[in-house]
Amino acid sequence: MINTIKEAQEKLRNGEVSPGEVASGFLSKIKERNKETNALLSVFDKVTREIEETNKDLPLYGSVFAIKDNILVEGRRCTAGSKLLEHYTAPFDATVIKKIKEKGGVIIGKANMDEFAMGSSTENSAFGVTRNPHDPERVPGGSSGGCAAALAAEMCNAGLGTDTGGSIRQPSAFCGVVGFKPTYGTVSRHGAISMASSFDQVGPLANCVEDAQLIFDSIRGKDEKDSVTSELLRKEKKEKIKVGIPKECFVEGIDSGIKEALEEAIEKIKKEEGIEVVDISIPSIKYALPAYEIIMASEVSANMARFDGIRYGLEFERPAAKDLKEAYLINRGEGFGKEAKRRIILGTYALSAGYYDAYYIKAQKVRSVISEEFRKASSDVDVIFTPTTPTLPFKIGEKITDPLAMHLSDIFTVTANLAGLPAISLPCGEREGLPVGAQLLARRFQEENLFEAAKRFEAIWRK
Ligand code: GLN
Repeated sequence: MINTIKEAQEKLRNGEVSPGEVASGFLSKIKERNKETNALLSVFDKVTREIEETNKDLPLYGSVFAIKDNILVEGRRCTAGSKLLEHYTAPFDATVIKKIKEKGGVIIGKANMDEFAMGSSTENSAFGVTRNPHDPERVPGGSSGGCAAALAAEMCNAGLGTDTGGSIRQPSAFCGVVGFKPTYGTVSRHGAISMASSFDQVGPLANCVEDAQLIFDSIRGKDEKDSVTSELLRKEKKEKIKVGIPKECFVEGIDSGIKEALEEAIEKIKKEEGIEVVDISIPSIKYALPAYEIIMASEVSANMARFDGIRYGLEFERPAAKDLKEAYLINRGEGFGKEAKRRIILGTYALSAGYYDAYYIKAQKVRSVISEEFRKASSDVDVIFTPTTPTLPFKIGEKITDPLAMHLSDIFTVTANLAGLPAISLPCGEREGLPVGAQLLARRFQEENLFEAAKRFEAIWRK
């Protein structure tokens, strides 16, 4: 089985395998495992021909992608995991999709996700839960759970997701793959369905760090259709890697298995030449999750307003409502799932006159404090090391009735979104036969250093 893009590329270029063999390898895995895992919501069949017609010298030649179903692929259904968009067909390619196609990537299908990217388990999809390929009783994480599961089940060798509070990194950790959230503003979001716009980033999921970097390099850059994008990337050539570990991350609320696995991983890197590990402190990290919840829900309530049944919604599939209000009630009432409704209500409340200062403004102030603490803490180190998740992949149904417990899954990932930092999750060990992920963060626009460190650590942990 061909696992990485690099491997597929080499074998295709030197004629060891044919495009047909690559395509049928993935398609037969889909046939074998998609019923059980429900990782892909739609599957495209022209992969062989598309690889055959691709110029072999292109950087993404040999890559076969599962795309999260909130990223527009022209002429294909794009549901965002919601009943509201069940019959919506994308009228154009998202900028990232255009770039993938131009650079030789091929798309094999659209991947399941929590509705409008709200969730940590893919249980909030209107089209059924995705199951973790390592244990079908367990969740694959979320919201990009379909992409992560598709990679882990060898249905593709590349994935594209979105990350608002951890939705690329947390499922990657749960499924034992690599997931990268770029610096805010490095990758265009034009054609990605918005969740919370001051946090949202598009990024790669892959089978190794090198592939994640290759995909990132192919999709990044300024786009006039997303005004926050820039070309900026910094690199300071370093011989040694200095790693900071925030002591707050290893105190409470983290499972003993995860803690042990991470401590072992840290011991392994400490032994290596040229890696220095130091303790750091980010005292306000404990306020990151509450601040994220308020700001995220506020932005969600604004972004979800467009699903009114007039521009997008169920309206076209049912008899016309008698007036505008009834149209809203039908479309939004029946179209949105429970979690989306909870967040719309919470966000509308937090933004309402009289509460705005107490909640939204306060949370924004906390966000500034956390960003500043991260800036200070990282000024003396190259990367910051934390767990990706506080627990191993949990059982399907275990947390779905307890939204607070579910939201705790994001405790280590939301800080990167609050502060706009680049962050990567990569496998660093196993517990109870399940994958454990480590997260590395760097200063803004320092993706190159982050990838360098991640590649070194990956080589150590894979030994
Ligand atoms: N799990 C987080 C949430 O539900 C993150 C979602 C995301 O990154 N899209 O808010």
